[in-house]
Parts: sequence; C-alpha cells; structure tokens
Amino acid sequence: MLDHKMSDPKKRFETIVQSLRTNHHKITPQRLAIVKILAKSTGHPRVEDIYGQLKQDFPTMSLATVYRNIVLIKSLGEVLELGFPDGSNRYDGNKPYPHPHLICIKCKKIIDPKLDSLDDMKNEVANETHFKILSHRLDFFGICSDCLAKEK
Ligand code: ZN
Ligand code: MN
Repeated sequence: MLDHKMSDPKKRFETIVQSLRTNHHKITPQRLAIVKILAKSTGHPRVEDIYGQLKQDFPTMSLATVYRNIVLIKSLGEVLELGFPDGSNRYDGNKPYPHPHLICIKCKKIIDPKLDSLDDMKNEVANETHFKILSHRLDFFGICSDCLAKEK
C-alpha cells in the first residue's frame, strides 16, 4: 500500500541511479546531484529551484541541462511531474507515482496530504464507468496555516 509518508531518500536515490544504469545512461556528477535533490524533492521543487541549489557546485551547468535531466528521469518513470497552466511545473521524485497534492495559492507550497479514501474513490470511478483506471490527478487548492496567520 502506498501511503503519504516520504520514501527513504537514500533508497529513492539508489533506485533512480539504478534505473539510469539499466537504461545505459551515463552517470555524471551533475546527474547524480540532480538525482539527489529529486530523491528528496523537498517542497516539490521547480526546475529553477534545483538549478539554484546546484549552480554553485556546478558553475558551468545550465538550466537547460537540469531540464533535460528531469525529462530523462521522467521518461524512466522515476519522477512525477505536476504541470500547471502557468508553466511552473513542480516535481516529486520521492513519490513518483500518482498521489494527491495540497497546494497553497498564496505561497505556492505543495504538500502530500494523507487521504485514506483515495482507493475507494478509484474503485467507485472504475465501477461507475467501467474504465480501467491507469492514473489520476487530484489537487486540493487552499491557503496554508502560515499564510492564514499572516492575513490576520
Ligand atoms: Zn501558504
Ligand atoms: Mn508529492
């Protein structure tokens, strides 16, 4: 059973690296550094956030390189992409499978809520429509408690 808890970032790191190896992709220090950040995916980073964390250690690395690596890792099914209409895509390589998200519309923080009824919802939709459900996207939008406190 998949749950809302974080996967062990070390294990996720090893799994992603193994997947790169199995698919004959080069393991470079830059690539490893990107994988390390994705394995944790603290706060569901943007490509720009990952680039910002790495540009000091890898001054010659470009934003495009980070982007290309994420596209590659996504093609291996090892990172979940959360697309948004404004293009500010966010990434979760800690939990690369579909799961619900809770998004603060003020500070744009994104967290993984625990949602016990998700499996029931999937079954209900499948039973109702006779679809084989392959994936899902469930986002809750709101104002986080930090932002609510600031409004007062
Ligand atoms: Zn907020
Ligand atoms: Mn997530």
